[in-house]
Amino acid sequence: MQQQQQDTISALQAMDAAHHLHPFTDSADLAKRGTRVIERAEGVYIWDAKGNKLLDAMAGLWCVNVGYGRKSIADAAYAQLQTLPFYNNFFQCTHEPAIRLASKIASLAPGHMNRVFFTGSGSEANDTNLRMVRRYWDLKGMPSKKTIISRKNAYHGSTVAGASLGGMGFMHQQGDLPIPGIVHIDQPYWFGEGRDMSPEAFGIKTAQALEAKILELGEDKVAAFIAEPFQGAGGVIIPPDSYWNEIKRILEKYNILFILDEVISGFGRTGNWFAAQTLGLKPDLITIAKGMTSGYIPMGGVIVSDRVADVLISDGGEFAHGFTYSGHPVAAAVALENIRILEEERLVDKVRTDTGPYLQDRLQTLSAHPLVGEVRGMGMVGAIELVADKHSMVRFGSEISAGMLCREACIESGLVMRAVGDTMIISPPLCITRDEIDELIFKASQALSLTLEKIA
Ligand code: PLP
Repeated sequence: MQQQQQDTISALQAMDAAHHLHPFTDSADLAKRGTRVIERAEGVYIWDAKGNKLLDAMAGLWCVNVGYGRKSIADAAYAQLQTLPFYNNFFQCTHEPAIRLASKIASLAPGHMNRVFFTGSGSEANDTNLRMVRRYWDLKGMPSKKTIISRKNAYHGSTVAGASLGGMGFMHQQGDLPIPGIVHIDQPYWFGEGRDMSPEAFGIKTAQALEAKILELGEDKVAAFIAEPFQGAGGVIIPPDSYWNEIKRILEKYNILFILDEVISGFGRTGNWFAAQTLGLKPDLITIAKGMTSGYIPMGGVIVSDRVADVLISDGGEFAHGFTYSGHPVAAAVALENIRILEEERLVDKVRTDTGPYLQDRLQTLSAHPLVGEVRGMGMVGAIELVADKHSMVRFGSEISAGMLCREACIESGLVMRAVGDTMIISPPLCITRDEIDELIFKASQALSLTLEKIA
């Protein structure tokens, strides 16, 4: 690398450390180690400023579903910026991109869901959910139904309501969360918490924790249950097969709304437009963001069922809620082009019938590695559990940080994987090809061996 180029990177890193507070980052540590400056991206690859090429098996932050470098998305944004860069959807106004996007999403969503409320992010969308379900029950004449039941180790965002709905203890410790009216039940994490029973039995047990909580609080106090189809940030935790049927039974028995947080799973990641369709679930509200625009520009929203929308609309008058950027025209134009690409290239179908099953088959080959306790996945997500002893499944002590070592080994091998404790997770762009999946698995296997060497 040229000296001048190195100087530029060092200057950027110094400026970054001096002025930029990063999300979910220990800033003191970052200042010591320096940041990786990412410069450009194409397809499933990113390049850092030093010229290192990495296969991005996390699709950015689970979001770049159509892959990087789509010129037609840039063109759609540019065209919209020239005609109408901004107008709001408040006060009896609207514009064509928001209208077309709401209608398009309604056509892709489960049949009983026909309306969309737009936000700027997934967190804002979950704040919207909280206000919407409480408003719904007020309008139904049941104002005592206020509490929302969530799950430990869930992730629903970083706003006050989002972080409270989430079940991350380390987030709750900062800022006195959760706010009142939100409670958490056990998660369906069989490998981490349930190996003393069969996955089947554990799935039923953790689902029945919902019923126990409803009975403890009283059905007349509970507004909604919120869940991700699989817990993404929690470590790609996929409930045992028995889980959702039992949850469905409980939700049907008690009069409780169901919020399905599809910020990660929406727009194709499980091989259908929404995981609700993959899993046969009937949510009242679906949270969306990320894959909606493939992350090219921020946007989120809530897909609202007829059950909820009809009450809000016919009995509610004004819903006193909204964001300056709700349905932003440029974001909506980008989302429409993103969906057009997903459709034209049949990327969602491919995840269901071709690249998804191929990824899952190839991932399973890693389970033979001495460091690997379990490999699991669905569609275009996967998780690899690192263990100290493959036979007893004993994990490493916290002094080892196997996940962090493996994450660094991945970078050395030219691959971006994320570590959640000692769980390595992936969520590649949906446009990834079979050859690129082979490369991903080769690099992951190399990184696992490198990790083993580092630990030894
Ligand atoms: N819900 C889930 C399931 C998520 O994974 C995330 C982000 O990772 C969010 C909500 C929050 O979305 P955002 O970061 O756009 O606010």
